[in-house]
Formats: sequence, C-alpha cells, structure tokens
Amino acid sequence: MPESSLDRRAPLNVLVVNAGSSSLKFTMYCMDCERVMARGIVERIGGSEPFLKYEHNGGKVLKEQAPVTDHDEALRLVCAKLVDPEVGVLKNLGQVEAIGHRVVHGGETFHDSVIVTGEVKNIIRECFSLAPLHNPPNLGGISACERVFGGTPNVAVFDTAFHHGMPPSSYLYAIPYTYYEKYGIRKYGFHGTSHKFVSYATADLLGRPLGELKLITCHLGNGASITAVDRGNVLDTSMGMTPLNGLVMGTRCGDIDPAVVLYLVRRGMSADDIDKLLNKSSGLLGVSGIGSGDMRDTINASEGGNVQAQRALRMFIQRLVSYIGSYFTILEGADAVVFTGGIGENSSFIRERVINKLTCLGCNLDADTNTATIGKAAVISTPASALKAVVMPTNEELMIARETVRLLTVPSRAIPKHDGAPVSK
Ligand code: ADP
Repeated sequence: MPESSLDRRAPLNVLVVNAGSSSLKFTMYCMDCERVMARGIVERIGGSEPFLKYEHNGGKVLKEQAPVTDHDEALRLVCAKLVDPEVGVLKNLGQVEAIGHRVVHGGETFHDSVIVTGEVKNIIRECFSLAPLHNPPNLGGISACERVFGGTPNVAVFDTAFHHGMPPSSYLYAIPYTYYEKYGIRKYGFHGTSHKFVSYATADLLGRPLGELKLITCHLGNGASITAVDRGNVLDTSMGMTPLNGLVMGTRCGDIDPAVVLYLVRRGMSADDIDKLLNKSSGLLGVSGIGSGDMRDTINASEGGNVQAQRALRMFIQRLVSYIGSYFTILEGADAVVFTGGIGENSSFIRERVINKLTCLGCNLDADTNTATIGKAAVISTPASALKAVVMPTNEELMIARETVRLLTVPSRAIPKHDGAPVSK
C-alpha cells in the first residue's frame, strides 16, 4: 500500500537556507526540541576574499577563508563542515531530512509555504521581476540543494505569504484596476515570516489563542514594517509592492509622495539613480547625514546634539506612531503592540518614545521593565493597560524550520492554480 502523506513522520533534522546574491546563511536544526545544532554564513560568494563563519556545539565559532565562486560551492563547503569529524554535527548528509528555504516573493500565487516542485520553481522564476535582487538567488539556493542533496525534500517559505489574505481594500492601490490585472501592481507586504512568528509567540506569552487577538506587530530592523493582525489574519501591512514603502528605515525613505519621483525624473535623474536614492541613501542615513543608517549611531549622534540626527529620530518615531494609530482604528481596537527586530528587541530608548505617545490608546509604559528588557520576551506595559506593549524576539529561521516540518507532515496542499490572473475577492 502506498504510504500516504498523512503517515509521514515529521522530519527531525531540518536545514534552513537563506541564499542571497553573495551570501548563503544556514541553520541546522534538530526539531525534536527545536535545537540549533550548527549555523553560519558564507559571505562574499564570487567576490574578493570569501569566507565561512561556522558556529557549532553551542557557540564555538570558526571563521575561515573559503575560495567559493558560486552557491553550489558554498553549499558543498557548509555540508563538509556539517559532517566534519571534528566540528561536524551529523554523521552523514543523509541525516538531513528536509530543507527549508527563505524565498522573498511568492507573488499572487503562494498564500502558504509549499513543497518545492518543478512547477513551484517556475512560479518563483515568474516572480523575478517583482523581487529582482532576491528571488534569483533564493531559487539558486534551492537548485543548489537539489543538486547536492538529491531527493531530500525542499520547502519554500515566502516573506509575502502571511500577508496574502489581506483584503483588496488594503492591497489595491488607487490607480486604474487594469494595472493590477495586467501587471500585478498591488501591495504584497514583506517580513511576513517574522510577523507570523511574533504573532504566535505573543499569543503564547499572553496565554491566549491567536484567533482571539488583535495585534499590531512592528518589525524594526534595518528594514522596518508594521502589520495589523486580526485574529491571525493580516488586515494591512506597511510595505507595498516592494519593501520601499511605509516606515522610515535605515536607508529607505518609506512613504513618500509619488510625484517626488516624477519631479526627479523631469529633473533628469534616471530610474536607477532614483532607485538608489530612495532605497540606499534615504531614511535615517539620508536625513541624519552622519554617514550611517544604523539606529545606534543615530541615537548617539542625536544625544551628542546633532540636529539632523534628532530630526531623523523624530521622523522615525512619528511615522511609526501614526501607523500604530491607523492600524488601531482599522482593527477597531487592539490587544497588543509588539516590538521586534534589532531596534524593537534592543532599544528601550525607541520603545519608550513610541509608547509614551500611545497613552491615548490605553497603553502605559512600565519604565523599569522596559529598561530591563533587551533581546528577550516581556510585556513592558503596566498591568492596567488596555493596550499591551510586548517585546518579542523574532526567529525567522525557526519559523522556516517549523513550516518545513508542518508541510512535510500534513497532507501537502495542491499548488494553487496559476493562470496569470489575479485572485479575485
Ligand atoms: P536587519 O534588518 O539587517 O536584519 P536587525 O534586525 O539586525 O537588521 O536590526 C538592525 C538595527 O537594530 C540597526 O539599526 C541597529 O542599530 C539596531 N539596534 C541593535 N541594537 C540596538 C540597540 N541596543 N539600540 C538601538 N538600536 C539597536
């Protein structure tokens, strides 16, 4: 009798791969108790002085030069370390039972993670134009794993998938509908794996089912986005068709009047120059002028009296607070605002300034708990607050590993039919 997918044993050893244009990040999990066996990164693949950083057995780190020219070579190097007699954590590569991949853009098709097939790879390829910097290396990582690991199943976990259920009133732009139909111009949203992880983790922390909670999740890293999560479903999110929209970020401008772009075009700037200006030279970096888009540098410069850094900080906080207010109203009230990402998890300074603006929504800061909370989960509002403030460290790699286990232990869903037409709602 053929083995049904229902009978499948959950994969135990799961490798998570995040392949970027010149890097390959990996985490090897043992999923019985979600333990990290090894993790690391190969950087500067194909560039000058590529190197491998490999952490194993609870924190021992080795760093070595790695003359790798492509993702296949990088992956083979990682595999050699995983089974190395001295620093390895596996007896052989056959012990890797499944591989989970971060894929940035799932376009209109993928509302969930999927087991990789030829058809899935074709659709990821069709999304290249939507994420030209990310989807090609993400697919490259999948193909490298297929070559190196043979028949081991691969699962694709999309940054966009958690946002897929947004209503059209959130994801459509107010331009002629035909542009959505013909070109797929709409909001997709990003950081979905992080927003999903912290939503579930916050529900656990608060001891309530996610299906009962209204959450506003703030992922504040170099890239930053905010999502309104209505009982487990995304109602709206701040990034758009690309990650440029929404909050003020390290080097991205976030929300801007689109006519600014037209103005710059008419002044003679090329599309590539404007792309670089708004994605790489704006945000905290552009406003502060201190040569860094790093929040710690911005705070230091601001405290040292740099007026532009002070303005950049105020803009960052004001934009975030106005999104929180907006999402509070479209959710018709909320149970918690959740802070995650490097800034959200570590900066009591930023959290204090944001939460002090939320007293009108029923959120009052517990200042001592806020100061004491760095990189760990905690409720940082007072017990009487109707709207709680929560710090929740994100873990996108673990979410990808969990998704991989889930996909490979329940009957796999059919790939949604992809006929090029948008999903009508
Ligand atoms: P990425 O989007 O690259 O994954 P991270 O989530 O690691 O970024 O976040 C990086 C940001 O977090 C940087 O702006 C950094 O300055 C900020 N950050 C980290 N620790 C602190 C801190 N203690 N105070 C303020 N900002 C911090």
